[in-house]
Amino acid sequence: MAIKLRSCPMCRGKLELVSIDRVSGSHDPLTITVLGMPAGRCAGGHAAPVHPDFLIWLIHELRERRQQIPAAEEKGMLFKKAFCACGAQIPSGAGERRTFAYDLAFEGAPGFKVELEMPMHRCAKCGKEQLRSAKAIGAAASHAMVGVCDAAKFPHSG
Ligand SMILES: [Zn+2]
Ligand SMILES: [Zn+2]
Repeated sequence: MAIKLRSCPMCRGKLELVSIDRVSGSHDPLTITVLGMPAGRCAGGHAAPVHPDFLIWLIHELRERRQQIPAAEEKGMLFKKAFCACGAQIPSGAGERRTFAYDLAFEGAPGFKVELEMPMHRCAKCGKEQLRSAKAIGAAASHAMVGVCDAAKFPHSG
C-alpha cells in the first residue's frame, strides 16, 4: 500500500512524495548519512517527514543495527576502560573510521540507504575490530539525527 502524505506542517499545502538525495548529520564520533530518504514536499518548498512516525521509526531501526556492531566492554565508574572479549584492554585513540551501510524501508514508502560512519578499534591481542564505546555512539546518535533533520529542512516540531 502506498503511503498517504498529510498536509504540509508549515503551510497546510499538499505534500508530494520526494526522495532527498543525500543528507548528513555529525556528532563526534558518529556521522549519519541518509541517501534517498522519502519525504514530503509542498509547492512552497517546505519539507516534512514522510509520516509522523518516520523519525522515531528510523531512530529505532538504527539503534537495532548499531547493536549488531561488535563493541568493547566498558568497566569503571569515572575512568572508563574498554576491554575486548579476549580480555585485552582497548586503549583510547582515534581508531579507524568505518562505514556501515544499511537498506531500510518505511511501510509504504520507497526504500533508502543509511550510512553510519564511526571509529573502530582493532584489538592488539586478538585482532578483533570493535567500537571502543557503544555508549558514546548511542549518545551521539540523537545529536547526529538532529543534523540530518536540519539538512533535510524538516521543521522542529515533535
Ligand atoms: Zn508548505
Ligand atoms: Zn581481543
